[in-house]
Amino acid sequence: MLEKLIRLGYPKKFAERYEELWGERALTILRAMERPLPRCFRVNTLRGTVQRVTKMLNRKGFQFRRVPWSRFGFCLTREPFSIASTPEHLGGFVYLQEASSMYPPEALEPVRGETVADMAAAPGGKTSHLAQLMENEGIIYAFDVRAERLREASLNLSRLGVTNTILVQGSAERLPELGVTFDRILLDAPCTGSGTIHKNPERKTSRSMEDVRFCQGLQMRLIKAALESLRPGGVLVYSTCSLEPEENEFVIQWVLDNFDVELLPLRYGEPALTEPFGVELSGEIEKARRFYPDRHGTSGFFVAKMRLRG
Ligand code: SAM
Repeated sequence: MLEKLIRLGYPKKFAERYEELWGERALTILRAMERPLPRCFRVNTLRGTVQRVTKMLNRKGFQFRRVPWSRFGFCLTREPFSIASTPEHLGGFVYLQEASSMYPPEALEPVRGETVADMAAAPGGKTSHLAQLMENEGIIYAFDVRAERLREASLNLSRLGVTNTILVQGSAERLPELGVTFDRILLDAPCTGSGTIHKNPERKTSRSMEDVRFCQGLQMRLIKAALESLRPGGVLVYSTCSLEPEENEFVIQWVLDNFDVELLPLRYGEPALTEPFGVELSGEIEKARRFYPDRHGTSGFFVAKMRLRG
């Protein structure tokens, strides 16, 4: 078994970790990760209704199935030519996006008029989803450290007709300095990205345990900043495209141990791990969710939703 995981190109250390986490299923997960994912898109209801936009695409020969967790989401089953070259895409009627990425904004459930932060926003996929759920009303503060990625986000948001968003270049660790109290916060955290091997195969070997630990530290500092900026009763959704428990369940356990928050249930995905590597975590952590390429046909993905008590 271990040999087979190593033959897929994973370093021995990670192959051993994955075997310990998932047993026999590790091979199924990592083999599924070798296959490309279906191309998916979200209808941008700031530009047109789901019915109208899907009809426009159907007429051109595109066929698709629904994404279970978003009424705006579809994955292509027939793509007669690249959807990226259609007027629907160029005109901002659709946003090309992996299916699991549609879950965090849906899980956050922002509504019109709220004050929302998107702490790691570029290139703006989830920000634009939040804006559409908020019907372009209220305000979104969207942070990213990287200027060139924010420029891309700016282009995406204007193509999609988003007008309720302020882009802020800088570390979202500084969120409390804004002096704004948020109703809801999305932290689609920077991570090692081990759930996206299907599109970044070099990550099999380019990421080390040191990177995992670095990301974990940053993720904790970002969550701390989020919880300091949330109103009592406010909601935080934390997500990563990492498979590593150190960036997922262990971070959430640290939150439960250090802050007055309750985890909220999520409907989709499978329960997060409560005993990764034999470490017994709070049973509450099952409420967080994992998505896998073998079961959900998505990237490896993690989502947790929490409410600040008070
Ligand atoms: N949410 C984005 C979307 O859906 O399009 C994807 C975000 S990507 C997973 C993580 C982002 O975090 C990267 O764009 C990276 O530049 C940004 N980042 C890294 N460190 C950060 C920090 N300290 N504060 C804010 N953003 C950061």
